[in-house]
Amino acid sequence: MQVVWFKRDLRLEDHAPLRTALNGAPVLLLYVFEPELWRDSHYSERHWRFVAQSLLEMNERLEPLGHRVRIIEGSVVDALSDIAEQNTIRALYSYEETGLRQTYDRDLAVARWCQEKGIPWHEFQSNGVQRGRTHRRGWGKAWHQFMARATDNPVWAALPSAEPKLTFERVEEWGAERLRRLAEPVSVLEQMGGVAQAKAVLDSFFGGRVHNYHRSLSKPTLSRKHCSRISPYLAWGNVSVRQVYQRLLQEQTQHGKSRALSAFNSRLHWHCHFIQKFEAEDRIEFEPMNSGYEQFDDPWDELNEQAWIEGRTGLPYVDACLRCVQQTGYLHFRGRAMLVSVLCHLLGGRWQVAARHLAQWFLDFEPGIHYAQIQMQVGLTGINTLRIYNPVKQGQDHDPDGVFIRKWVPELRCLQGAIVHTPWLLGPIERASLELDYPEPCVDVEEAHRAARQTFWARRQNPLVLQEVKRVLYRHVEQDAFRTVSRSRR
Ligand SMILES: Cc1cc2nc3c(=O)[nH]c(=O)nc-3n(C[C@H](O)[C@H](O)[C@H](O)COP(=O)(O)OP(=O)(O)OC[C@H]3O[C@@H](n4cnc5c(N)ncnc54)[C@H](O)[C@@H]3O)c2cc1C
Repeated sequence: MQVVWFKRDLRLEDHAPLRTALNGAPVLLLYVFEPELWRDSHYSERHWRFVAQSLLEMNERLEPLGHRVRIIEGSVVDALSDIAEQNTIRALYSYEETGLRQTYDRDLAVARWCQEKGIPWHEFQSNGVQRGRTHRRGWGKAWHQFMARATDNPVWAALPSAEPKLTFERVEEWGAERLRRLAEPVSVLEQMGGVAQAKAVLDSFFGGRVHNYHRSLSKPTLSRKHCSRISPYLAWGNVSVRQVYQRLLQEQTQHGKSRALSAFNSRLHWHCHFIQKFEAEDRIEFEPMNSGYEQFDDPWDELNEQAWIEGRTGLPYVDACLRCVQQTGYLHFRGRAMLVSVLCHLLGGRWQVAARHLAQWFLDFEPGIHYAQIQMQVGLTGINTLRIYNPVKQGQDHDPDGVFIRKWVPELRCLQGAIVHTPWLLGPIERASLELDYPEPCVDVEEAHRAARQTFWARRQNPLVLQEVKRVLYRHVEQDAFRTVSRSRR
């Protein structure tokens, strides 16, 4: 039999491994919930709920064909060993995964197992990410060629009429009821997984929401409506980048290349551009991309870090962004960048802590984009223009009436007008009369901002940092993309 192993590619269309495996031989479709990943601090139940919703939908679509994805809990090697004991596995099919060290090590174990058993493992290129590259020359051209190719849609007539018989012993197989329980939505504010949801999100985006896209990117409330909100569907593979890109080209053909559509186009490119960085150097999960920064030791403020984790920094716009993402799984780009910047530049928190907590909260957690963005926002690349955000000014600029702050920080609803951005300026008498239950800011923003700027620029001139810049540029930057990213800081 042929085994198709689904990972972060939870769809049945534009799926090269599935299309290739459907060649007449019996085929087993497999998804493995791995306890090691459940325990990993980048993940939270939010992610597995989305996965379960996606798998339920896939199985609903497969049922009329007499098939299903078998849902396993345990190690992938154990699951494959069970299958190999009862059947001859002709080949294993999957996408390449650009993941955390945890999944890289697991893939090495699977590769060793396949080699020992003499089973070929066919891995397919995932989206525009190119494995084995040591530089970026020609990367963009290859990206466009990949995106322009016809989608890899399986020919369902080639699916054998019955799934192979099999019982699992080393691992536990989940029934539909268990999957349904995990898939149960907990909040209407959280996006739900599945191909139909992804399609609905794209339809509503191109059907109208897109018009204000480029004007809403930095706005905490408008971005929720006018940005595409396609990121979790891309991260978990309910839709491929190629499907979205080809849909975008159709829209541009029909409606012209508006500024909004062009801005969206660039970001689809960035999606793969950032994952490519992680593919080329996954050590950035643990170390600065520019190793010149390893020599610096920053003082750690544990109390401030904890206040950030709890969304009680005393900085209203920061706390609103933190609580919003914790409760909904989504925050716009500028809000994400500001949270990292505030924690690491102003509050004395660690970038690894920002990375892990935000990963748990972001429904769209995608290791490659995430780590490359964190390093960029903290200033550990040595190549990007750095913005050290002033969170008070960010709130005043992007939430001038304080609507977003009052929604997510209910303690501040009693404050009228602009004071909601700076409640510490209230006098003690006003504070007492309002019975304000909200902390004082954990730093003096102006002072911390000045100190952070000085530190950053001094380090940027350090010889070891400068020495690394050339290598980082060669390894990670397409000249065109570099200019665009630096200019727009997004
Ligand atoms: C610290 C930090 C961490 C981030 N972590 C993630 C993450 O784990 N997963 C993730 O998908 N995005 C991440 N982003 C990038 C970006 O914030 C989100 O992709 C975007 O906000 C998702 O919303 P959307 O789908 O409405 O985006 P849109 O603006 O509609 O963009 C469409 C798609 O383009 C891609 N994209 C958009 N902006 C970027 C960007 N700056 N870099 C790379 N790709 C981009 C995403 O796939 C997105 O879905 C991170 C940004 C920062 C600053």
